[in-house]
Amino acid sequence: MAHYRKPLAAAVALNTAIFVPEAIAGFEAGSLSLIMDSVHNFSDELALVFLYLAFVLPQGLSRNLVRSANLFSSVGLIAVSGLLIWQAVDRLLHPAPVLGLVPIVMGLAAAGANWGIVCLLRRPGRDNAAIRLAYLHNVGDIFVSLAPVVAGLLVTVMGRYYFDPLVALLVAFWFVVSTLRAVIGAGEELIWPEKIACGHSHEERPATSSAG
Ligand SMILES: [Zn+2]
Repeated sequence: MAHYRKPLAAAVALNTAIFVPEAIAGFEAGSLSLIMDSVHNFSDELALVFLYLAFVLPQGLSRNLVRSANLFSSVGLIAVSGLLIWQAVDRLLHPAPVLGLVPIVMGLAAAGANWGIVCLLRRPGRDNAAIRLAYLHNVGDIFVSLAPVVAGLLVTVMGRYYFDPLVALLVAFWFVVSTLRAVIGAGEELIWPEKIACGHSHEERPATSSAG
């Protein structure tokens, strides 16, 4: 299963290489939309790490462990998003300077990183349902990471700082709703870790080499 491990490890590395600089740059530039995208990419980091562990650990991951970890992280992520929503509302009422160029450049870099993850997961995703879900999720994330780019462009072109918290607010609401749906059990996000847990049982087609 080395052919699953390598692309998954690379995907985790690439995701780390983007969500950390995004958070730092977001704080430096005063861009809430960039910080929000960092929080979102961090949430995907957890899912990618679980996916990786499911293939590395000899017994895979227990369904209960994945479910508990997912619930725990979801509550934390919703709390962080709530904080961001509160900050964004405050910024809408009292606009503060935003360095528009930073979310433009970093958002493009994040979209590029998500595209890189999509490329890494495309091939293994053909044989494995869990990786395919991660792949499909990241296809959507290419576009989500363009939200801070739009915010930065609006701030720069229109000269209005409030576009940044406005975009952050929209993304945060979307993120909270999709995370809540996952917790309640109606969303795709729940299926994703579920499939990770049982990823071992139906991971390969018989025709594939058993050497991995
Ligand atoms: Zn995502």
